[in-house]
Amino acid sequence: MSFLNLGLCTEILRAVKEEGYTKATPIQIQSIPVILSKKDVLAAAQTGTGKTAGFTLPLLQLLNKNYSKDKKRVVKALILTPTRELASQVGQSVQTYGKYLSFKSAVIFGGVGINPQKAIIKKGIDIITATPGRLLDLVSQDSLDLSKVEFLVLDEADRMLDMGFIHDIKKILALLPKKRQNLLFSATFSPEIKKLADGLLNSPVLIEA
Ligand code: AMP
Repeated sequence: MSFLNLGLCTEILRAVKEEGYTKATPIQIQSIPVILSKKDVLAAAQTGTGKTAGFTLPLLQLLNKNYSKDKKRVVKALILTPTRELASQVGQSVQTYGKYLSFKSAVIFGGVGINPQKAIIKKGIDIITATPGRLLDLVSQDSLDLSKVEFLVLDEADRMLDMGFIHDIKKILALLPKKRQNLLFSATFSPEIKKLADGLLNSPVLIEA
């Protein structure tokens, strides 16, 4: 299916076209309209299925809908990933697909200096892609406010649990507004993932691709 019928704006379609994508992948066909309708999503998706665009494209579109250039930037979308490599990849996708929109995004992970990350955040950020530990460090050092987050994505949630991030995830969830849209992507569905999903998602739409 072409991207044209999925409800995306011209700026996003232009960026997608420049990537050379001609058809939406099965996960994108399912996830984009559902996310645009503001529903929570529980998606079974492997790497390589186009899942990143599956959540990034509609997220950018929803943020753009209510965007006002005059307002101060606040973090409205938070994408959590298990590793710095994935955070970088997803952050790059946010940049690429959003290049004709005016959002500022940042990628946050541990193992590198925290001060440059603080400086970037201080300038104002709309979308953050992060690994859990460093995100919490920045919050505890009063450098990051998550109280206006409207969209939460857990990418590769099964790997996050395998890596022992459940406590960090719970701490982060406690910092977010109750009213928000949640998207959980996972390659596998263990009882632990189901438990996390039950506590996190409101009447989610199930997607498998
Ligand atoms: P992902 O599953 O998100 O890791 O994406 C895997 C790869 O597929 C990435 O290199 C994307 O650039 C590419 N990709 C995503 N969506 C499409 C599409 N609709 N058509 C062609 N390639 C795509």
